[in-house]
Amino acid sequence: MITGGAQGIGLAIGRAFVAEGARVVIGDLDPVATDAAVAELGGPVYATGVRCDVTSATDMDALLTQALDAHGAVDVMVNNAGITRDATMRTMTEEEFDLVIGVHLKGCWNGVRTAAAIMRTQKSGSIVNISSLSGKVGMVGQTNYSAAKAGIVGLTKAAAKETAHHGVRVNAIAPGLIRTAMTEAMPPRVWDQKMTEIPMKRAGEVAEVASVALFLASDLSSYMTGTVLDVTGGRFM
Ligand code: NAP
Repeated sequence: MITGGAQGIGLAIGRAFVAEGARVVIGDLDPVATDAAVAELGGPVYATGVRCDVTSATDMDALLTQALDAHGAVDVMVNNAGITRDATMRTMTEEEFDLVIGVHLKGCWNGVRTAAAIMRTQKSGSIVNISSLSGKVGMVGQTNYSAAKAGIVGLTKAAAKETAHHGVRVNAIAPGLIRTAMTEAMPPRVWDQKMTEIPMKRAGEVAEVASVALFLASDLSSYMTGTVLDVTGGRFM
């Protein structure tokens, strides 16, 4: 299961999972982009798409029920769906705050609790939440996003403690600057400023986040739960 899997980091995670033999279910808002992603992943044998707004518990429930009915198990849940509504606090509207908290924090909580309910009966499963470096250090213009992404870290650790004895692992990834539609919309001056902060002197590629998601999803990380892995090229280590 990958929420927000129709493009960007989520789609790259889908590619990495399918390459390792997984069957992927994408839950995303945009049916056209989701259909294109399913085709790119090799068609209905390898991937299916379900329209899902992660802020809706009903949608999340339907998404996971459909995945369970189709595949008989939910082994991996990646809570990746995201948006930004950047503005300094002086100009950020209450709606922009609520929207970002809703998609990231409540969306992740909906995904974690629904997947964990299935995985605890299976006695196995791995949940991977996509946080952000913004949640670790706080970024100007992102009081909504930084708060939501820091909240995902707390949620990850609390859920890891609640589910560990059921054989369920919950970990998070904190990407730095990754080249996607979300970051390419940034003004060049902001992009250049970020570049000066990165010891590796380049943005990350989506495949470089996907490989870490694959590690956390697989038994290669079988003794890891409640962790947050930075994928940042060394930025703000
Ligand atoms: P992206 O290219 O914009 O992809 C995000 C996907 O999430 C889109 O397909 C979007 O669908 C979907 N989505 C948005 N709201 C949704 C909702 N309510 N329900 C279901 N799906 C929804 O973004 P990305 O850069 O790949 O980011 C993926 C994740 O990584 C996000 O959580 C982001 O915060 C995190 N992250 C990204 C970076 C980076 O540098 N790119 C860095 C740190 C963390 P629509 O297009 O239809 O809205």
